[in-house]
Amino acid sequence: MKKIGFIGLGNMGLPMAKNISKAGIEVNAFDLSEKALIHAENLGMSIKQDSKGVLEDIDALITMLPNGSSVEKIFLEDNLLEVINKRTLIIESSTISPGISKKISTIAKNHGISMLDAPVSGGVKGAELGNLTFIVGGSQADLEKGLSLFKIMGDKIFYAGESGSGQIAKLCNNMLLAVHMCGTAETLALGVNNGLDPVVLSEIMKNSSGGNWSLEKYNPYPGVMETAPASENYSGGFLNSLMLKDLKLASELALGSKSTTPMGKLAMQLYEEMMDDGFGTLDFSSIQKKYL
Ligand code: NAD
Repeated sequence: MKKIGFIGLGNMGLPMAKNISKAGIEVNAFDLSEKALIHAENLGMSIKQDSKGVLEDIDALITMLPNGSSVEKIFLEDNLLEVINKRTLIIESSTISPGISKKISTIAKNHGISMLDAPVSGGVKGAELGNLTFIVGGSQADLEKGLSLFKIMGDKIFYAGESGSGQIAKLCNNMLLAVHMCGTAETLALGVNNGLDPVVLSEIMKNSSGGNWSLEKYNPYPGVMETAPASENYSGGFLNSLMLKDLKLASELALGSKSTTPMGKLAMQLYEEMMDDGFGTLDFSSIQKKYL
């Protein structure tokens, strides 16, 4: 890959594009925000004034947009699929509804264009450090074509299945993440309210059958884990607003497949309450605040 297009230079997209540019690949970049474009230009990218502008001579197009409607806007309203060169591999990395993802990749396929859904896990830190996890849906041959790019931006690349599967797997993962984070927070509070030290309790549960990622890597109780957002007033990390967005997508997915997800629904309700309480811009482990 010599040159790529990148649309969506926000908290995630800009560091991802920066890593690609640092690896010696030319980047045509576009974002609606003038500020984002200035940052991209200062990082050596070639900035464009609209989405079609990024398509010139590129081997791949990466999109990292806030939601399904912005992805539909780019690919359907801006008609990118009508004008993009057929040799260009599209890597759509935003977290969106699997239904929208499947719809757009089917239209792409009908135009003879390869498209992968490749949502990520790992947050802004992962984007900066180039160690994101990519969860990919589409054809395995297309994944192979994009592998060199995935390896620049990430260190774990999973193939989930046909188009839309990357999004389904990502939503399943994040629903479980929310559920075990909520469970971990209320359990730690239960122990503390009954006289236990949260550090001691965390150590016991981490090494017993209650062990989970939230306890091991992201303890929600302030002061237990120095490097976790909980010890920095829940700043940075993965925002409550983004967790709620993913839980709503998971809930739609459950509805559409007649799946019963009471724990996912309860987690969604708890994160809705966090938003109502004005905590949308805090890290999602701040769910602990409900129990302090
Ligand atoms: P963000 O809001 O910081 O960035 C999105 C960018 O897209 C903005 O700069 C915005 O101006 C731009 N944009 C919106 N519509 C556009 C359009 N039509 N044309 C061009 N640019 C447009 O969001 P983010 O945090 O970077 O997240 C991006 C995606 O990654 C989301 O789908 C999110 O769910 C997912 N994600 C985020 C995180 C995280 O920790 N932030 C982690 C994993 C996945």
